[in-house]
Amino acid sequence: MSLVDSAPSSHTHDAAASAALNAEDSARILAKAALFSPPDATLPDGRRDLVGLSREELTELLVEIGEKPFRTKQLWHWIYHQGVTDFSAMSSIAKPLQAKLAERFVVGRPQAAMVQTSTDETRKFLFRFRDGQEAETVYIPDRREDRGAVCISSQVGCTLSCTFCHTGTQKLVRNLGAAEIVGQFMAARDSYSEWPSPKGDTPRLLSTIVLMGMGEPLYNYENIAKAMKIIMDGEGIALSRRRITLSTSGVVPLMDRCGEELGINLAVSLHAVTNELRNEIVPLNRKYPIEEVLAACRRYPAANNSRRITFEYIMLRGVNDSEADARELVRLISGLPAKVNLIPFNPWPGSAYRPSTREQQNKFAQIIMDAGFSSPIRTPRGRDILAACGQLKTESERIRAAQS
Ligand code: SF4
Repeated sequence: MSLVDSAPSSHTHDAAASAALNAEDSARILAKAALFSPPDATLPDGRRDLVGLSREELTELLVEIGEKPFRTKQLWHWIYHQGVTDFSAMSSIAKPLQAKLAERFVVGRPQAAMVQTSTDETRKFLFRFRDGQEAETVYIPDRREDRGAVCISSQVGCTLSCTFCHTGTQKLVRNLGAAEIVGQFMAARDSYSEWPSPKGDTPRLLSTIVLMGMGEPLYNYENIAKAMKIIMDGEGIALSRRRITLSTSGVVPLMDRCGEELGINLAVSLHAVTNELRNEIVPLNRKYPIEEVLAACRRYPAANNSRRITFEYIMLRGVNDSEADARELVRLISGLPAKVNLIPFNPWPGSAYRPSTREQQNKFAQIIMDAGFSSPIRTPRGRDILAACGQLKTESERIRAAQS
């Protein structure tokens, strides 16, 4: 029996019942996320970080110190359009107010604990946050053009334990806050001096965001949503929703909310075409099996032919890379505006898998292409600077352990 035919949910629940289940499930996920909240964004000296606040929250703070709400627009411009971190450089704000702001607030950035630039120009940052926790951010320039993707982390560690993933071996410490998520992008941009934010169609070096770093972004939905709204705000960084892609292992109830509320692009870490195998390599599949994930993709509002859903598929030799697997993949995604990203597995110490051969990758890709889907094989980037996700953090832990 095919996967889709064996799906129990679409047959046994009517739409209302499954929406209610979704709402219940999504409330449970959000409640759990709150247990891993980031620490308060206040410095030991009592000053508050303004990065990561919504416009409404910023206005509230300004009104609390006796300022008019219109100051929000001014500050927003300096913080997110100009990228200024020093109040005394905010020239449209009178000196006394600059001083008043500096007494009470900061415009923060995560600290770059390690920065490495590869021979292929990929740049990896290990950012350290105020409580000493760390997460990775990677800038991957497009080789042909003046643009590139910033890969942002959403959590410190991860709960999901995908068996091929190095980050999955680091248990979840906590969620990143909106300030820390926006801060990764802003600090990466500082490193390329790309301020003020380029307007309209002006080319940008840091032109897209992929929420594909450490962690499952939909398990930290509230902070991710707040951060993306700040980044998409037209008077600041102003990155369009079309240039942001969230990658999930398939947290179905929040896929719906993400589509409705943010309308950003979606990528799904599929990695297997049977529930039996996916249960093993992406254990979240036991909760949200393939057919439910694909149903959520089919109703994802932001997907269409110009904004296709990306299915990520890691190529594991002899595990998920047969031609029969490729044909089943085509069958599963048929009718969806989709593309498939084939990812050569990057072995790490202790991993149980081997990468597929180049020949097998090509055969697999050809079957998908013949069915009309684009299926690029991702070129590994930054190999000389610890290429696999999670390695920078591991490396810094190793160094620290050696020093202590
Ligand atoms: S692949 Fe993503 S979701 Fe899975 S363990 Fe790694 S970081 Fe977590």
